[in-house]
Amino acid sequence: MMSDSILEEIFIKRSQQKKKTSPLNYKERLFVLTQEKIAYYDFDSDKGKRKGFKGSVDLEKIKCVETVQPEPNSPQERMYAFQIIYDEGPLYIFARNEDIRNQWITKLKQMVRFNKDLMQKYHPCFWVDGVWLCCHQEVKQAMGCKVLDNNKNGIPSKQSRKSVTRKPLPPTPTEEKPGRPLPPQPEPPAASVGITVIAEYNYKPMTDQDLELRKDEEYIILEKSDINWWKARDKYGIEGYIPSNYVVETESGLERFDWYCKNTNRSQAEKLLKTENKDGGFLIRDSSKAGKYTVSLFTKSGGETSGSCRHYNICTTPQGQFYLAEKHHFNTIPDLINYHQHNAAGMVSRLKYIVSNRARPPSTAGLGYGVWEIDPHHLTFIKELGSGQFGVVKYGKWQGQHDVAIKMIKEGSMSEDDFIEEAKIMMKLRHENLVQLYGVCTTQRPIYIVTEFLSNGCLLTYLKEGLKQHPTTVQLLEMCKDVTEGMAYLETMQYIHRDLAARNCLVDGNGTVKVTDFGLSRYVLDDEYTSSAGSKFPVRWSPPEVLLYCKFSSKSDIWAYGVLMWEVYTLGRLPYERLNNTEIVDQVSRGLRLYRPQLANEKIYSIMSSCWHEKADERPTFQELALNVQDLLQLWTARQRRQTLSFSTSSKLSPKSKGFNSWCIK
Ligand code: ADP
Repeated sequence: MMSDSILEEIFIKRSQQKKKTSPLNYKERLFVLTQEKIAYYDFDSDKGKRKGFKGSVDLEKIKCVETVQPEPNSPQERMYAFQIIYDEGPLYIFARNEDIRNQWITKLKQMVRFNKDLMQKYHPCFWVDGVWLCCHQEVKQAMGCKVLDNNKNGIPSKQSRKSVTRKPLPPTPTEEKPGRPLPPQPEPPAASVGITVIAEYNYKPMTDQDLELRKDEEYIILEKSDINWWKARDKYGIEGYIPSNYVVETESGLERFDWYCKNTNRSQAEKLLKTENKDGGFLIRDSSKAGKYTVSLFTKSGGETSGSCRHYNICTTPQGQFYLAEKHHFNTIPDLINYHQHNAAGMVSRLKYIVSNRARPPSTAGLGYGVWEIDPHHLTFIKELGSGQFGVVKYGKWQGQHDVAIKMIKEGSMSEDDFIEEAKIMMKLRHENLVQLYGVCTTQRPIYIVTEFLSNGCLLTYLKEGLKQHPTTVQLLEMCKDVTEGMAYLETMQYIHRDLAARNCLVDGNGTVKVTDFGLSRYVLDDEYTSSAGSKFPVRWSPPEVLLYCKFSSKSDIWAYGVLMWEVYTLGRLPYERLNNTEIVDQVSRGLRLYRPQLANEKIYSIMSSCWHEKADERPTFQELALNVQDLLQLWTARQRRQTLSFSTSSKLSPKSKGFNSWCIK
């Protein structure tokens, strides 16, 4: 034994499959544990001597040491597995017997017990060929699905020992455990604790723990452990929880002005201005050039009935002054805006009317910090909105003032306990393109699911009947973009929708589309809906691997998204109209795909077709789709802009002749 070694043992080591495609193999290695690391070596089996160094893991990088359940039908020498999780993923090691395994696990646990970033949850089964056998998540970094057995000496309890050695659980591919944790939030907690933020909206406390927000006032952030609810202190020293999406960090000092739309790009600005539809409507946004700002202005002049948008860069002089029109320089942007609110000075009009992206406060993740059980007495029912798989959905108010939609769950239609568990996780999902779950009422029957209310209702009906004018291709693409963004968020949260379709999207008063009912299909009690042979199964939205093997993933959501795009571009037609479910299963698995809708050009069709790749791996991710769609939208709006420009330069008063910087239009 080496002098500094604490333990030495010959184990079987599994190759680490750092790439999904790298082959799996099992090799005997000599493992040596020292104060600093666990190293493994090739060895001479005759003399038991160690030879070449093969690799090591620094103890300080270890996040978890735990047993692993053997795979079904494991050979005897691979029954006593344990895993060492560190930043490069899991290292799987097989001990000869349980005692040796326990000795190593106990020792390692003891040595790493003060490491930072120790995991609270782990995967009890192996990661094989790109999937966790326990929870079927397909991302290696996905947070564990089982809470660690927190006994102090690190020896697995009797009960878990039993299940580890005798009862390997075969994976059940169609089932996902309720209560699966979401992956870690991207933001490091406590990173910006102590910063000052400004309230963009008023917020009236909904619980005793909440803190009131007054628009434009400053608050200090004290704690960020919940991504949706931060603890803050106001200027009077009062502390409490605030919705994190109601405040912004003060960077430029412009945040307090209603005309400043932070994090708004050109196409979002145009959408806001067009929805407002007021001549002289304007806002200031970040320019695509870092650190610069752009004025976006809506005009109805020039004989255009629908109005159009102009974009003017705010330029700076070498002395650091700001201007739009060359003759008028200002020390600050607010001064400049103030001037142009009264003087067009060469622009197509003066800045008449502030268009703000803060007109309506966004949804909060729940009705107050930590609340997910809602008192049904606080709900008033106003009207019936429709009915679906779970029964009637009503529009109503919470505490007499907040709009909500209330799903009244028909008894026997849902596996309620599992859903209630899951609801706690769903509540944490917050994105402007997802219908927010506010909470549940579970103390009475029927139980209620309370969500954000969207006044334009279901997207499918909206496409068929709700569009006032014939939609432009840009408008249709905007709808698709909304869905890709909501879905890209779900994808990063490793949350599978399982029933994405136009009927499961809703439209708000501004025409923004939001995805709803994510993950809910798992709790439906109706064989016609849950079995892929059932008459209500979403066969028309399902890829071959779901139809044939019930294999759901973010990639099956991608397929459904392609079909949803097709629904959008056909204004709500039924996919594969002439085929019945059996014919669809048969033909789609043999390569049949939906045709190009008339309103979709080749580019759009190529995006939707990319979602229908036979091989799930070859389909794009939602992140990629979102970028694609955004690029396309920018290209189109830029094209429209060029048309606008040539129009304005051919008019009598060329802006340029007035010393106006419209050549800065970007
Ligand atoms: P289920 O989930 O029970 O199948 P749905 O979600 O399909 O029910 O809802 C039925 C109908 O109720 C929808 O088609 C839609 O018109 C309306 N609806 C549902 N949720 C909302 C909401 N949050 N805002 C506005 N309308 C809604």
